[in-house]
Amino acid sequence: MARVVVLGAGVSGHTAALYLRKLLPKEHEVVVVNPKPTYNWIPSNIWVGVGKMPAEKVVFDLAPIYRKQGIRFVQAKAFALWPEGDADDATPAVEVEHTSPGRDGEVEKLRYDYVINATGPKLNFGATPGLGPDGGYTLSVCTPDHATEAASRLESLKAALRTGPKTVVIGVGHGTCTCEGAAFEYTFNVEHELREAGVRDNAEIVYLTNENELGDFGVGGMQFEQNGYRTTSQLWTESLFRERGVKAITGAAVTSIEPGVIHYDQLDGSHNDLAYDFAMLLPPFKGNDWKAFDRAGEDITGTVFAPSGFLKVDADYTPRSYDEWSARDWPRTYQNPTYGNVFAVGIAFAPPHQISVPRATPDGVAVAPSPPRTGMPSGTMGKVVAKSIADMILTGAPVPTHGASMSEMAAACVASAGHGFRTGTAAAMTMSPVVPDWEKYPDTGRDLKATKGEIGLSGHWVKRMLHTLFIYKAKGRPGWTWIPE
Ligand SMILES: Cc1cc2nc3c(=O)[nH]c(=O)nc-3n(C[C@H](O)[C@H](O)[C@H](O)COP(=O)(O)OP(=O)(O)OC[C@H]3O[C@@H](n4cnc5c(N)ncnc54)[C@H](O)[C@@H]3O)c2cc1C
Repeated sequence: MARVVVLGAGVSGHTAALYLRKLLPKEHEVVVVNPKPTYNWIPSNIWVGVGKMPAEKVVFDLAPIYRKQGIRFVQAKAFALWPEGDADDATPAVEVEHTSPGRDGEVEKLRYDYVINATGPKLNFGATPGLGPDGGYTLSVCTPDHATEAASRLESLKAALRTGPKTVVIGVGHGTCTCEGAAFEYTFNVEHELREAGVRDNAEIVYLTNENELGDFGVGGMQFEQNGYRTTSQLWTESLFRERGVKAITGAAVTSIEPGVIHYDQLDGSHNDLAYDFAMLLPPFKGNDWKAFDRAGEDITGTVFAPSGFLKVDADYTPRSYDEWSARDWPRTYQNPTYGNVFAVGIAFAPPHQISVPRATPDGVAVAPSPPRTGMPSGTMGKVVAKSIADMILTGAPVPTHGASMSEMAAACVASAGHGFRTGTAAAMTMSPVVPDWEKYPDTGRDLKATKGEIGLSGHWVKRMLHTLFIYKAKGRPGWTWIPE
């Protein structure tokens, strides 16, 4: 009997757990650890954040799904890894603190044969003074609660706009943020809502980003062919902003926020102040606050985790200048190089380097978008790692048997630009691969046939359909494996 412990029930961990349960006979145990009792389909938080979807529609209870699947659910937060076991028992363990009513605060060591770290990002609001809704002065749409608060503040903003001009700022709250696509999507949804409410003329909407140019999205931008012409994601995105009258401030690192004022530095060395009435700024991501210990209890955190808190996997982490990196540096099996039964998937694995050019202001403030690990690659990683672990358990395979590198994987991002069956729109982007491979595609780094950008009403329908399909899949309903990651 083997026990596989999956830490985190988000896109990558939940996918891994469902596949493990499907692939492993019942004598093997699959355990999922997650601090909240619910699953959140995060992409639809954007619609919660504009009041177009109630928070209940983007979450569901994990316990009944896991009970039905035969997965053991532990509502807890993992905080320490003991990959060699401890003085009492040589079986590897993960230390967790329970969060369920009745067991809140109780600490337990869960023994494992294999562990998958799928704990996603820690929302690092603390990196910028004044950032975030919990103790800061800005809004967020990263969790259903944050998004619900943003929606309520948007309602107040609509009322205030009836009385006079106001400034709306949406973007990222630190020079090293990722997930610019979500900020882009929220910008266009807010713009759409204000237009629908008849108050758009009084709103100055500013998109504040660490991207050096619009359309970078932390992946160095894209080139694609449209109607037989070659274009760039920069031109395409700039025209979307111009059409909607959204002003963009690029190459910016937010340094601090006070009530009503955002302070940011730019690459030209300028220090700037931006007054706002409504601001939604995404936080930078870091790994969770992990510790790792060897059998003797010595701290080996630096062996297992990168300084960012993300887990080291089979990437090439040799320090190199940006110009020297290669698509081959990216991991494909997500196995830790020191402990072969430890894996990390989704946002929790440590990327080897930036995809966008990292820059800094003359004062040394980083303006360096971090690499995104969006839903589709995260789900795919969960699936391939589950397949590898199942093979390792069932056939004794000595090494992972499945792989998927972000330098080979495609990603699709459908960024809604307004909700509504007839009035909605969405900007749909697909890229392959996510990490450009300049050896395979010397011209643009990506496959031009599979890298596209389109905008229209049909994109909105696709995005709405994906909401229903992905929640159906995450509930493990009949035929869930037919729905791709
Ligand atoms: C507002 C927003 C909109 C987005 N829109 C899109 C989109 O349209 N398309 C797209 O492809 N991607 C989108 N993304 C990105 C997408 O949500 C992520 O790529 C995806 O969720 C990453 O999956 P993950 O499993 O790595 O992390 P998550 O889905 O964040 O899951 C991590 C899980 O780990 C749990 N956890 C945290 N700490 C611990 C701990 N210590 N112990 C145990 N469990 C823990 C968390 O509670 C969570 O359940 C969006 C992101 C945001 C913030």
